[in-house]
Amino acid sequence: MGDPGDEVVDICRDLLRIDTTNTGDNATSAGERAAAEYVAGKLGEVGIAAEIYESAPGRASVVARLEGTDPSRDALLVHGHLDVVPAQADEWTAHPFGGELRDGFLWGRGAIDMKDFDAMVLAVARDWARTGVRPPRDIVLAFTADEEAGGGYGAHFLVDKHRDLLDGCTEAVGEVGGFSYTVTEDLRLYLVETAEKGINWLRLHARGRPGHGSMVHDDNAVTAVAEAVARVGRHRFPMVMTPTVRAFLEHLSDALGVDLDPDDPEIAIAKLGPIANLIGATLRNTANPTRLEAGYKDNVIPSRASATIDCRTLPGQAELFLEQLREVIGPDLEIEHVQRQPALETTFDGALVDAMAAALRAEDPGARPVPYMLSGGTDAKAFQRLGIRCFGFAPLRLPPDLNFSALFHGIDERVPVEGLQFGVRVLDRFLRTS
Ligand SMILES: [Zn+2]
Repeated sequence: MGDPGDEVVDICRDLLRIDTTNTGDNATSAGERAAAEYVAGKLGEVGIAAEIYESAPGRASVVARLEGTDPSRDALLVHGHLDVVPAQADEWTAHPFGGELRDGFLWGRGAIDMKDFDAMVLAVARDWARTGVRPPRDIVLAFTADEEAGGGYGAHFLVDKHRDLLDGCTEAVGEVGGFSYTVTEDLRLYLVETAEKGINWLRLHARGRPGHGSMVHDDNAVTAVAEAVARVGRHRFPMVMTPTVRAFLEHLSDALGVDLDPDDPEIAIAKLGPIANLIGATLRNTANPTRLEAGYKDNVIPSRASATIDCRTLPGQAELFLEQLREVIGPDLEIEHVQRQPALETTFDGALVDAMAAALRAEDPGARPVPYMLSGGTDAKAFQRLGIRCFGFAPLRLPPDLNFSALFHGIDERVPVEGLQFGVRVLDRFLRTS
């Protein structure tokens, strides 16, 4: 029993079969408790004490600490979320909660986001417990609830209410990084996340004079909000070259053998194919209208109208962005902040990064680790609040033709079994030397 390369497949399949859909509403979200009990059971079985922490009924996270050989060193946090976004079974080739093994892939919602990494962490921890391996420093394992709805019931809850569990943690690894992008047969870039854009969901409110829809009316809230939304939706904010994106693009141009025009990097980025969307969004602040709300009767001009804008800001740009946005929408609309979480950015250097790079190269001689910025947000936003230096490093070697970024929250999400087993080997090496 117990080869981690076999076990990771079994554990990932088991986790995929537990439906942990997070709808953003406690009444309809399910399965996190069952997944947490499964994880705690897998750890307990090999003698690792794991505790379940509930922020609300059913909203469960699991934390355990592996004791390191050198208690004078700071601890490393390894985190993965247990929840997934919803999936419509009728749109899928395999059932999203079936955990089916087909064509060399494990299929299911969460296969790459991120039950794959949860399973890798469990497989490595169990193997170490059985064979008596101790890491060089304390490793805190956190399996969280609610990442897909902002982490309020998961990572942020742990940071707010159980900070002591994270005592001594100065660095962390979690999603979305460590995956490969094939350049040639013997060169693969492994994108390690060293930065994340900030989140700023805001609501624009327009107020006007209410009135009858049949009359001449020049102070209409619906018109005002519609004009602002149209301007925002079509606006391109100026390009800002951050250190992370610059480093990534330099690696990219070198690897692809193309000259990079720093004033117009989008030509080079377009050559990335499927991951171009992921990278393109990290060149500038973005603002996408996502919701509109106005009116209650066809012939009544309402006194107010509102729109929600999903804004994502580059590190250090949050305040400047609001000034730029104000210029686009004009002076009259009120801005309400619905959710604000800062960007994060760290440097791609130091012993932890060296350990990542060495572990990747040992398992893939064609590996070239490169830093990159994620345009979305992860649980790292919560852990950063404790001053923890956060990385996305969930190692995964991918087949060259797989459209990886489309699988995130996408239909037919699946993970290659060989990639999963590669990930276990890299993670094992990395954690032993971190
Ligand atoms: Zn995720």
